[in-house]
Amino acid sequence: MPLHIQRDIREIEGILNEVLNTKCPPVGRCRLLSSGFGTAHSLNVAEEISGHKECLGCGNCVDICPLLLREPSRREKTAQRTSMVLESIVGDDCDLCDACILVCPQVDTTIKNYVVSRRMVEVMPRLEQKIGDDEEPDLDLFIEEAISGD
Ligand code: SF4
Ligand code: SF4
Repeated sequence: MPLHIQRDIREIEGILNEVLNTKCPPVGRCRLLSSGFGTAHSLNVAEEISGHKECLGCGNCVDICPLLLREPSRREKTAQRTSMVLESIVGDDCDLCDACILVCPQVDTTIKNYVVSRRMVEVMPRLEQKIGDDEEPDLDLFIEEAISGD
């Protein structure tokens, strides 16, 4: 859980937007832009880790990624669940949906709030377009079929 006093978006807005506009999983870099571990963590470690920004290997970002849900064969390449793995198996095929940022325990709430309030307006039409793509599954049809039991 990040520090109580978190990153001020005004200090990082330029670089954050660059990260969010780059076709590559953004969670690792958003973690590094965050404030790091707070003092109230409950990890059983003797060393002082407040301010550390390491990936915890919790796998939340891997689990939430829509590209990996659509293409499970990518995920089957490794059992590891870190942001580094996400970068190597998603790469520049990233949908830029920002979901991995929202589920990462090491990303500051200030960054998550910025993503939700300022970036989702751009993300939703892009994802909607993707859902409407002939190459992509038609979710409306899928839901209709699931409801009708066909
Ligand atoms: S597709 Fe979304 S969840 Fe997956 S790496 Fe890209 S931004 Fe993160
Ligand atoms: S969600 Fe978990 S695995 Fe992914 S970058 Fe954050 S701490 Fe690491």
